[in-house]
Amino acid sequence: MQILAKCPACDAGLPVSAADAPAAIRCGRCGRDISLTFTDALRGDTAVDRCPVCGGAEVYIRKDFNPKVGLTVVIVGAVISGIFYWFGRDLVAYSILAGAALNDLVVYGRLRDVTVCYRCHSEFRGGYARTAAAFDLHTADVLEQEYERRIGRR
Ligand SMILES: [Zn+2]
Ligand SMILES: [Zn+2]
Repeated sequence: MQILAKCPACDAGLPVSAADAPAAIRCGRCGRDISLTFTDALRGDTAVDRCPVCGGAEVYIRKDFNPKVGLTVVIVGAVISGIFYWFGRDLVAYSILAGAALNDLVVYGRLRDVTVCYRCHSEFRGGYARTAAAFDLHTADVLEQEYERRIGRR
């Protein structure tokens, strides 16, 4: 399992392999030491039962989507179709635009889900079974505030 641990001080994303299970990592941006606690399920890539950064058990699932990649495809498609449009080939232009949008959908649909910690926003990727529910705004509000009070950011 690959974990993107979020630094409690500066929110930098720090990649950690759960198989290595380091007891602590140092933030490359702000230099803060972050102690990590890995459960057996995390090490064995079987489940996300406890966040190694904040110790929270509440997580949600979202699509592992990189908006930058999708946007680039649409922009490139729009530019190419614009050129065809300029030369009066509307049908070609529209089909390229539709193709770019469709390609986006396919890429989006193929991506695996990523599990995210409600409190510290650390991300978990791996072959484990996705059992968590989708994002819930109310849960996020409550847990984020609790976490930020605990680490002294509020
Ligand atoms: Zn940091
Ligand atoms: Zn967490």
